[in-house]
Amino acid sequence: MNSGILPVPSPELDAALAAVRDAMTICRSVQASFDGGSLAKEDKSPVTIADFGSQAVVCRRLAETFPHDPIIGEEDSSALMNEEHAPFLHRIHDEVCRNCIEATPDQICHWIDRGNASEYSDRFWTLDPIDGTKGFLRQGQYAVSLALIVNGRIELGVLGCPNLAPSGIETDSVGTLYFAVRGQGAFGLSLAEGATAKRIHVSRTTDSTRARFCESVESGHSNQGKSAAIGQKLGITANPARLDSQAKYAVVARGEADLYLRLPTKADYREMIWDHAGGVIVVEEAGGRVTDVDGKPLDFTLGKKLLNNRGVVASNGALHDVALKTLAEVGV
Ligand code: AMP
Ligand code: MG
Repeated sequence: MNSGILPVPSPELDAALAAVRDAMTICRSVQASFDGGSLAKEDKSPVTIADFGSQAVVCRRLAETFPHDPIIGEEDSSALMNEEHAPFLHRIHDEVCRNCIEATPDQICHWIDRGNASEYSDRFWTLDPIDGTKGFLRQGQYAVSLALIVNGRIELGVLGCPNLAPSGIETDSVGTLYFAVRGQGAFGLSLAEGATAKRIHVSRTTDSTRARFCESVESGHSNQGKSAAIGQKLGITANPARLDSQAKYAVVARGEADLYLRLPTKADYREMIWDHAGGVIVVEEAGGRVTDVDGKPLDFTLGKKLLNNRGVVASNGALHDVALKTLAEVGV
């Protein structure tokens, strides 16, 4: 790496990049041969071979260099212990082995469960092995999101977007990797052969009528009626870009959208930290700003959930205050 432009190399950044690259390889491999196999979790959301395989290989990498760091990850192996799901575990095992990682099924479950920390600590990682599983299932956008949080502050984030083209929001066969280190900028790396990492920046849009915003595909994850009302009040004419996962943060960080609105659909829903940490630092280090819908900073000191926050607003910075004011006027 060129230290003048890219972040100063560190064991944390090296391990996180290697881990997310391993996970992206597994996800792409599963997607290439995908037969629709998924399990329903207790909350009825789907989980695939790739979710488990991704969590296993990321936790494995982190354990090599940082065996004592807790990891708050989305998945756990309990469903895989069920005898009826043995064939599912075998397919995860096959995928991990296919990617040149030697392991027994038990070892894979052990790696997955290294990601089962739930309490806040002074230094921990948070991982969403596949953010946007619904996007993954429909061959749309999804992301592998990993972040290191120290004393409540996100210090490093890596966002793997295997289906995100280097520009635009279309699905693509190359994919891109985003990473950021606190105080050292945000970077995008196309996974095309020979590509090099480039610094990314949020847009310079200050005129809200020219703004573009993005939001979830899933109307259950963000209130699309309210975002349309906010867009109208801001004079936004462009249709919202709808994409699954933290790829939305990447699109804001590289200046293709000026706002990402995640507006609560249920009063009592609290966001999961792994759905945001990786993306938040990428936007902030690209020059943007992230708060909740009340303008409060996201509080990563409370375990798995952002218990002190409602929804999320990410922006290019310049449009943040006017967006928050409009949210309040619309009654979000
Ligand atoms: P997205 O791809 O942006 O639609 O977000 C996917 C994430 O939404 C999943 O990882 C879930 O953790 C999260 N999620 C599930 N239910 C809700 C909800 N009611 N409001 C906001 N996010 C949710
Ligand atoms: Mg998620």
